[in-house]
Amino acid sequence: MTLSATQEQIISCIDNNATSSQWKDWKWQMRHSIKDLETFEALLDVKLSEKQRKAFGKAAEKFPISITPYYLSLINTEDMENDPVFLQSVPSPLELNIVKGDMSDPLHEDSDSPAPCVTHRYPDRVLLLVSNVCPMYCRHCTRKRKVGDEDTIPKRSAIEQGIRYIRNNPQIRDVLLSGGDPFLLSDDYLDWILSELRKIEHVEIIRIGTRTPVVLPCRITSDLVAILKKHQPVWVNTHFNHSREITQSARNALGMLADGGVPLGNQTVLLSGINDCPRIMKALVHKLVKNRVRPYYLYQCDLSEGLSHFRTPVGKGIEILESLIGHTSGFCVPTYVIDAPGGGGKIPVMPNYLISWSTNKVVLRNYEGVITTYKEPDSYEPTFCDRDCDSCDLLLKLEDADESKAIGIGQLLADDDQTISLVPSSNARHSRRKSGA
Ligand SMILES: *Cc1c(COP(=O)(O)O)cnc(C)c1O
Ligand code: SF4
Repeated sequence: MTLSATQEQIISCIDNNATSSQWKDWKWQMRHSIKDLETFEALLDVKLSEKQRKAFGKAAEKFPISITPYYLSLINTEDMENDPVFLQSVPSPLELNIVKGDMSDPLHEDSDSPAPCVTHRYPDRVLLLVSNVCPMYCRHCTRKRKVGDEDTIPKRSAIEQGIRYIRNNPQIRDVLLSGGDPFLLSDDYLDWILSELRKIEHVEIIRIGTRTPVVLPCRITSDLVAILKKHQPVWVNTHFNHSREITQSARNALGMLADGGVPLGNQTVLLSGINDCPRIMKALVHKLVKNRVRPYYLYQCDLSEGLSHFRTPVGKGIEILESLIGHTSGFCVPTYVIDAPGGGGKIPVMPNYLISWSTNKVVLRNYEGVITTYKEPDSYEPTFCDRDCDSCDLLLKLEDADESKAIGIGQLLADDDQTISLVPSSNARHSRRKSGA
């Protein structure tokens, strides 16, 4: 594959003797990542506005800047202010605005951490933070407080402690390697982590969250794919936010992973001025699916500090889903989620399709606005469930159903549970009650 004119310009500016095979070497890309204003301007042959130049310096003190030469080469210098690649990688002066309601750790990832490198929020799965550095620091990063801080790169011993926690907690069946970017670890180190996890019998699947297919596609090498293949099932979730990021190099990387049998998903963050448009989002999901990537989540931008200029109203996300559901293939539609401040986890939100209901009918509307009814059965004998699966008439026998105690809304719906309401522990009305009942 030949390099573009911009890539030729950047490579010769970095090193007159560099070759295109060096360009495709991920370690070369990392060594020459752009971290300062002068290099940025020189490599692209542009001049930023005075305000932007200032922001570049100030923002870098708070949260690092690093742009791979490859990602830099995707910037359209003719229209930088509106370019999605520029906006995701170069700080805006607005990044320095901390507004009311911003939080440094809105998702309480640090307090939900029972062991080093582990965030344990959901019953059966954990985040294992194995890296603290990224090839490109996204300006919209939710882990701004942590990522890029070279003093806190997880040590091998800390990762070992995290793995021990997973080993000691048999309910964990799904481990998400995250960070930072796990694919910035060396092949050997990653191979070691995956091998350690694979030795744990109750770990059924491993997931890796990485932005390398977007910002450093040459990191996806045949050696890396061979490692993932060896430890399958390993799912990879990547992070494309705009169809312009799906270049030929990105397509090659995705193709190698898919050919290696790695199931691929994508998480997109809804970003004002970048992808807050139904047409852009439709183009993105179609291009992803064409490249065998399933759109997984669309995230509402969270409340981390310095992200206020990226946030949209929730209605924008609903409008985007409204434009996708029914209008295109079901598997092109991501689940739109708000990651609950305070650590409640991801909460899906959707347009409303159930308009009304009575005792024997529901009224629904479809994507075209057609209103329709679904007639419910005249009689339905619910299968009584007391979670005693061995004596159940249904054919499904779950080996470990005795562990499947219903919680949350599922508990309110369960036949064998007497709970009638769920009340937050700090509820004032309840704490006023005499008996505490
Ligand atoms: C997102 C997330 C997960 C994984 O959630 P899924 O909905 O299974 O993708 C697990 N733990 C934490 C802390 C998360 O933020
Ligand atoms: S949970 Fe167990 S007991 Fe309940 S319906 Fe399912 S199989 Fe039967």
